[in-house]
Amino acid sequence: MTDAASSILIRGGRVYDHDGDTDRPPVADVLIRGDRIAGVGGDLGPGDKTIDAAGKLVMPGFVNAHYHSHDVLLKGCFETLPLELWLMHALPPAYPRRSAGEVRARTLLGAAECLRSGMTTVQDMLTLFPFDPEHLETVVCAYEEIGIRCTFSLQVGDIPGIERVPFWKEVVPGEYRRHLGASVEPGGFDPLEHVREHYLAWRDASPRFRWALGPTSPEFCTPRLLEGLAALSAEHGLPVITHIYESRSMAVAGRLFMPEHDGSQVGYLRSVGLLGPNVGLAHSVWMRPDEIEILAATGTNVILNPVGNLKTRSGVPPIRGYLDSGVATAIGCDNCSCGDSQNMFHAMKAFAGLAAVTNPEPGPPSAADTIACATLGGARALGLAGEVGAIRPGMKADISLIDLSTPQYVPLNSAARQTVFAESGESVDTVIVDGRVAMENRRLAFIDEDALRSEVEAAMPALRADIEAVAARNATLRPYLLEAWRRSWREDVGINRFVDDGGR
Ligand SMILES: [Zn+2]
Repeated sequence: MTDAASSILIRGGRVYDHDGDTDRPPVADVLIRGDRIAGVGGDLGPGDKTIDAAGKLVMPGFVNAHYHSHDVLLKGCFETLPLELWLMHALPPAYPRRSAGEVRARTLLGAAECLRSGMTTVQDMLTLFPFDPEHLETVVCAYEEIGIRCTFSLQVGDIPGIERVPFWKEVVPGEYRRHLGASVEPGGFDPLEHVREHYLAWRDASPRFRWALGPTSPEFCTPRLLEGLAALSAEHGLPVITHIYESRSMAVAGRLFMPEHDGSQVGYLRSVGLLGPNVGLAHSVWMRPDEIEILAATGTNVILNPVGNLKTRSGVPPIRGYLDSGVATAIGCDNCSCGDSQNMFHAMKAFAGLAAVTNPEPGPPSAADTIACATLGGARALGLAGEVGAIRPGMKADISLIDLSTPQYVPLNSAARQTVFAESGESVDTVIVDGRVAMENRRLAFIDEDALRSEVEAAMPALRADIEAVAARNATLRPYLLEAWRRSWREDVGINRFVDDGGR
């Protein structure tokens, strides 16, 4: 274990440079002083600690640019489901208040999975419902304890689902509607003041903990809330991450509820001042070509989550469209119950492969482009450009060492292509965040994983009972939600994001 004031010499690894030889990166040393990279090359002198990286690939840490820790313990609970049905199983408002122990266990477990797959930064867009300041403190402390870099946002909205998911209001009988509006806290709760208050309380919690703003999705937020968040972002330099056009129904919501913006959620965001380099749009599956051009012109980031989109039957985002138009692109792994893994290797392979079904013409992304999206792209989307995402002097020391002796990398033909197309995470050997060794030889340095497993098991009896109760209630709701979803398919949205839409 090292402290931030010490130095580390990573000796003799193949150091990955986005602009260098990404097939056979040259052997070099990396010297870390404190939390930053002091040098890359040879003859860099000793460090307080030396890590022998011979036979290892020295990679910039991945940035998981879209993630929610609230459903970490629900991984593997669901088959593929349309997004609007899955949400009813996965979102915290469906469940009773959780214990602080469960909140701690899930936060640590999710972060542990991220670290183990070479992620050094995660954006946690967290719904705490009902809000409990003790739970927020628990989350902040858990990130500090495990040592991953976290850009954190509280997910907020002020329009209930029943108002803006197409046809829920028309289809769902009155006695069930209370289950579809619970995402908004009751009784004079002001999400804008709520976010401001907690940002001010926690902004300096740790050098690795940064704050962002998390409006849930444009159609669930009033102009007042979004304008207020835009002002807060400008005042404090905070990135804003929101969902947009994850499912086809969300495109229908734009067409139905935003006629003054030509049916465009992007137009709505523009009207409230929420486009630009400090804004990240998670999913962006059902984006129109004219909207892609607006994102390119304004420097707005898209954060694509290809694995979760497959599991929620949401379609394939126009990956080639974004890359060909020069839209800044990041990659995330989204929820644990729609992914179901926090694994950037899975996400990168899906990203690179699915790009090919958005345009069969050979072209981007190359494996190196994909790695750049998973590192530099994520850094840009989270307001960390120039700080993380590359191994260069002056940047934060967020680095993973990947073992090149595993079958996935033997023989070493291309570090970039074997990382994207062959590796699945188990070759990640050591992870350094902010100049501190958070995992060494596959052992997490700052937490006891056996104890964490026990904490998870202690939380599961209560959670399992609640999962069953939610499933029973959703079985009653399912015919109505499916009917609403099918009605939304009858609305023309002008684009298709499915390889085959089943003749709809
Ligand atoms: Zn999400």
